[in-house]
Amino acid sequence: MSTLAQEVNRRRTFAIISHPDAGKTTLTEKLLLYGGAIRLAGSVKARKSQKHALSDWMEIEKQRGISVTSSVLQFDYDGFRVNILDTPGHQDFSEDTYRTLMATDSAVMVIDVAKGVEDQTKKLFRVCKQRGIPIFTFVNKLDRFGKSPFDLMEEIENVLGIRAYPMNWPIGNDGNYVGVYNRKLAQVELFDTEGAHGQKIIPSQVGSVDDPAFAELLGEEAYKALQEDIELLDLAGDVFDEEKVAAGELTPMFFGSAISNFGVRPFLEEFLQLAPPPLSRKGVENAVEPHDERFSAFVFKIQANMNPTHRDRIAFIRICSGKFTKGMAVKHLSTGKTIKLAQPTQFMAQERTIIDEAYSGDIIGLFDPGVFGIGDSLCQDGLTFQFEDFPVFPPELFARVQAKDTMKRKQFNKGMTQLTQEGAVQVFRQPEMAIESYIVGAVGLLQFEVLEYRLKNEYGVDIEMNHLGYSTARWIDEGDLKKSIKGIDSAMIVRDIKDRPVILFRNEWSFNWAKEQNPSVNFMIVPK
Ligand code: GDP
Repeated sequence: MSTLAQEVNRRRTFAIISHPDAGKTTLTEKLLLYGGAIRLAGSVKARKSQKHALSDWMEIEKQRGISVTSSVLQFDYDGFRVNILDTPGHQDFSEDTYRTLMATDSAVMVIDVAKGVEDQTKKLFRVCKQRGIPIFTFVNKLDRFGKSPFDLMEEIENVLGIRAYPMNWPIGNDGNYVGVYNRKLAQVELFDTEGAHGQKIIPSQVGSVDDPAFAELLGEEAYKALQEDIELLDLAGDVFDEEKVAAGELTPMFFGSAISNFGVRPFLEEFLQLAPPPLSRKGVENAVEPHDERFSAFVFKIQANMNPTHRDRIAFIRICSGKFTKGMAVKHLSTGKTIKLAQPTQFMAQERTIIDEAYSGDIIGLFDPGVFGIGDSLCQDGLTFQFEDFPVFPPELFARVQAKDTMKRKQFNKGMTQLTQEGAVQVFRQPEMAIESYIVGAVGLLQFEVLEYRLKNEYGVDIEMNHLGYSTARWIDEGDLKKSIKGIDSAMIVRDIKDRPVILFRNEWSFNWAKEQNPSVNFMIVPK
């Protein structure tokens, strides 16, 4: 096998999605611990900054002593090269969180055993589902009381519309689980969580479920309960179907506790086996194979440095085929220009370490002199590959912005145009609206803060921003707009950047009301 094929096959690039506080950071840290990238877990959490999730990653980087980008963590485990993409949550939730999912090959959904499927998980899940990528479920916090595993399976199915296949099953009682049962191997693994405080890899005992030693260890009642659960799963549950997993129609489900490390290693090992290596990517006209020797990549995120002394922008690219080598020349398809991926366009890492090579599946950061846009393709040697347009993500926050000083109109318009191209916010217009103001839409408040900050710092424009009381956007067809749409008095009709009509509703309730009043109108959550 060629080196390229070997490198591609061993890569696993995925994102961890969850609602804030479900345990994404803790699980990530434990994966690093088991991956040998850090020796002692725990201090990261203790020093976790209250404000920005980004600092978690920096702490992790410091601990590892090696550099990774603030957006991706890389480690080796059992021959696999693992790339974990950060999906900022909390105050950092933004369209970038969604865009990151465009660069992954699979996703791990972390669910709090007590809370079940929460709001942000639902939103992120929807984007993964749309892409048809495999989704794995890790039910976390099993050291605490929570919902029953059966109830959670049902909840996942009802709320997310995906069937769940438990790969392992918790052993013990609610609030006091002691291990997991591996269904594939019919093995029991009991964890010794005493005394380790989750900082170190914990010892465990593994053996066949039929081994009488386990029956004794577990006690008759717990052992019997386990047997009954397994029987029920085998009888009434889904069959394991790898194709369905690959298509994102069946989610392999794992149970554990990130904080006490139990269930982490069984999850990691099984996940790496099941998760797909980089697969071919669909483009507008053709597909690109990861094993194609010619390099291709696309930009999925642009990050501007907020520090005025380092006013640079980083374009994050996902490699889709071939091999990246430092200094290589590639074609930037949208401008037709050839760009040398050397100084100043370098491999970006937190400490600005320059990495010499990378392969399909890897994520790298390039210094962006201001030429890159979201979704841009970079290709080598006559390969012309145009990636499909990035989807539009439904904004939930809206504001009207204008320059405080009307004399600064020109800079304001320039800044708005550039920042919109960069994907900082979405822009909408009201047909009758003055040219001096815009309606901006975002999925997280951070996006508005970034917009305001950057307009001031990079374009010298102070803005006035008025938040608008809309939270639900629906695209409609031009034809439907011509009909008189009933029940939208409190809504606003605007047009997006491609001039497509969009109705902004106050809330879900008023949208549903309008939907009922206008059964023939096709309200779309994202544009066609
Ligand atoms: P994130 O917001 O999803 O990144 O969640 P964190 O990893 O920051 O975890 C949120 C809180 O849950 C923290 O206080 C963690 O210590 C705690 N936590 C994480 N995993 C577990 C677990 O397995 N059990 C318990 N009891 N707490 C956990």
